[in-house]
Amino acid sequence: MSEPDESDDLGREPMARGDEAPPNHPSASENACPDCDGSGFRYGGECETCAGRGVVIEAIGGG
Ligand SMILES: [Zn+2]
Repeated sequence: MSEPDESDDLGREPMARGDEAPPNHPSASENACPDCDGSGFRYGGECETCAGRGVVIEAIGGG
């Protein structure tokens, strides 16, 4: 059994600043962005915390 090389970023969603885990992380869960309340916009622009997605990836079950 060998893990695939994760060196290529093709097809991978870039993590937003507020993300705690990659979207494909087994224990990751999407939650409404606490900074923009899920709107994706903040201060008249794109929310930096969630990269305008309105959600952030939070790691659950981790330390
Ligand atoms: Zn946000």
